[in-house]
Formats: sequence, C-alpha cells, structure tokens
Amino acid sequence: MQKSGYKNMWVYIEHDGQTATPVGLELCCEIRKLCDAAGDRLYAVILGDLCETEVEKVKGCGIDGLIFVSGTGYEFFNTDAWANAFAVLSRKYKPSAIFVGGTINGRDFAPRFAVQLDTGCTSDAMELAYDPETGDIQFIEPAVGGKIMAVITVPVMRPQIGTIRPGTFRYAPTGAKENIEVIHEEISYDPDAIRCRHIDFLPDEADPEMDIAHADCIVCVGNGLKDSEHLERYRMLAKLLNGKLGCTRPLYDRGILPYKLQIGQSGVMVKTKLYISFGVSGAVNHTAGVDAEVFVAVDRNPDAQIFRYCDYGIVGDMDEICDEMIEQLQAGKA
Ligand SMILES: Cc1cc2nc3c(=O)[nH]c(=O)nc-3n(C[C@H](O)[C@H](O)[C@H](O)COP(=O)(O)OP(=O)(O)OC[C@H]3O[C@@H](n4cnc5c(N)ncnc54)[C@H](O)[C@@H]3O)c2cc1C
Repeated sequence: MQKSGYKNMWVYIEHDGQTATPVGLELCCEIRKLCDAAGDRLYAVILGDLCETEVEKVKGCGIDGLIFVSGTGYEFFNTDAWANAFAVLSRKYKPSAIFVGGTINGRDFAPRFAVQLDTGCTSDAMELAYDPETGDIQFIEPAVGGKIMAVITVPVMRPQIGTIRPGTFRYAPTGAKENIEVIHEEISYDPDAIRCRHIDFLPDEADPEMDIAHADCIVCVGNGLKDSEHLERYRMLAKLLNGKLGCTRPLYDRGILPYKLQIGQSGVMVKTKLYISFGVSGAVNHTAGVDAEVFVAVDRNPDAQIFRYCDYGIVGDMDEICDEMIEQLQAGKA
C-alpha cells in the first residue's frame, strides 16, 4: 500500500439530531494539533441530520472541512449503515486517519469498517502522537494489566483508525476557520439489509450522584475498603466537601458500587479540582482516568504506586484518616 496516497484526518461526530456528543468535539480539538504537525486537513464527518447550532460548535473546533452524509439507513444507529458509510467514504477520499469516540456505538462500528477496509483499529487510546519520521499516528494506551504504556501504530495500512474514550481530551475550541469546505455525500443503505431493528429507546434515569465526570471534588474508594458497611464514612466525606463518590474497578467487581462510579481506562474519565483516593494502589488503568488539580492519596503501604502520582500522600489506615478528615471538616464548619 502507498501510504503517501492517503492524506488528512477525520473525526466522527456522534449525535442524536439535537446534540453532538462531547467526545466528537473533544477529538476535533485534539486532532487539530496532530493535523498541524502532519500538515493535514481536519474533517468532521456527520451522518444524518444535526441541528445548525451544534454544527456551528463543531466548526468552532478548528476544522478545515465538514462531510455530511445523507441517504437511507440513518434513522437510528445501526452498525451496518454506519460501517458501510465510512468504508465508502474512505475508499473515495482516502483519509490517513479516522478517529471515533469510544462510545457504545463508536466502539461497535469503528472496528467493523476497519475490517471492511482491511486496516487496523486501536481501541481506547489514552494519548495520541504524530511521528514525523514515519507519518504514523501513535496510539498510546496501558497494556499488560496496566504495567506498561504500549505505543500502537498501523505502520503499513491506511487509514489508521482508533476509538478514544470520552473525556480523554479537553474541549478547547480554537474558533471557526474562514472558508470551511463543505462536502455533501449521499450514501444510502438498504433498510431491509440492516440486521437490527429499532424497538424502543429507554433513556437512563438521570441520577446526579452517578454523574462524576466533571465533579469538583471526588472521594475515590479503592480495594482497600473492607466491605460495604465501611463505605458510609466516605459518602459523608464526599458530602462535606460538596463532592461525589467514585471507585476503582475492584469495588465494582465486588458489587459494592455501580459501574458508573468506576474511574479509569475502562470506566469514567474524570476532570476535577480535588481528588482524594483511599486504599487505591495506583494502577495506571485507574490513574489514566484522573485529571485532578490537586491529588491526595491515602494508603497504608508507603511503597504504593499511587504516591508517585499524588500531590499529597498520607500513609495510614484509610478508615481512620477518613474519620479524622470528617472530624476536622465538621469542627471547621461548626
Ligand atoms: C484492560 C484493563 C482495564 C482496567 N480498567 C480499570 C479502570 O477503568 N479502573 C480501575 O480502577 N481499574 C482498572 N483496571 C484494574 C487495574 O489494573 C487495577 O487492578 C485496579 O485499579 C486496582 O484497584 P485498587 O487500587 O482499588 O486495588 P488494589 O490494587 O488491590 O489496591 C488496594 C490498595 O489498598 C491499600 N489498602 C488496603 N487496606 C488498606 C487500609 N486499611 N488502609 C489504607 N490502605 C489500604 C493497599 O495497600 C493497596 O495499595 C483495569 C485493568 C485492565 C487489565
């Protein structure tokens, strides 16, 4: 394959017609930097109708072009029409790289069109870089149980495809460029060939306690927790700090807290002002999901890896230290 025949980078904009999912905007802002390094143009790809105000938001992320796809098959998300549209577009325009938000839908269709194009798809990258020597994108993510950061490239085939977890990059729009190129493509997919049927849509019940991605303060409880009876004090600490409770994966695995509170590579990515971890060892799969202005770690093991990440470390028993914090805060409020 002639890699030089493939140019420019694309970001898929997932939406429900009214709102673009934040990850598409985050990706546009980040991929802008890669395009600048590579001398590529950045295109946002929108399937189906998206309202004009949201399209303006996409434009504000420094894109060079927009590709709108219309036709049959886009009334509801389905892997068949989505994968087909990207395969058709890619064969026609030959982008060098395509980035898809690692949402449930993105993780579903991205590998499928990668297979159709005989190329590679990297899932859940946590960092991206452009290698000027090879012209390859480096997809960087934890591997071997989080012990190393693996650099994954697609050195031979094009396009390079990757899914990126929501919240990995910041939404920092640089403003709309003048003369954004607009391309309209009609790619119809036979509705009878779609192998799934839309039966109903049941939205998640909104529970503010479960929405931790942008909480100002997070009290994160790890596997050091003895059992669920010991959890209440951490809830109380979070409440006193106007924060929210989060957890590591073992607490979800143990059935103590729900998946929506799991922070890390395979959970929620959080951006917060204050992060206090209790009984968290500091596996990179967890810490990769934490972007905190101030990181405080409590662990009884002075050699725990978490102490390499935190701004302030406290060695001791997690329950005792949590109780002490509660006491101090209550005394301060009294
Ligand atoms: C592909 C993949 C994806 C993953 N994704 C995630 C993810 O999204 N999020 C995530 O969290 N993990 C994830 N993991 C798991 C991750 O590798 C770690 O196993 C996990 O983060 C460890 O959680 P922990 O620190 O709570 O538990 P442990 O590693 O068991 O650490 C417990 C800590 O508690 C301390 N402790 C014990 N008792 C006390 C006490 N009384 N007082 C004070 N300290 C005490 C111990 O010293 C220890 O440091 C993933 C793994 C893989 C392979």
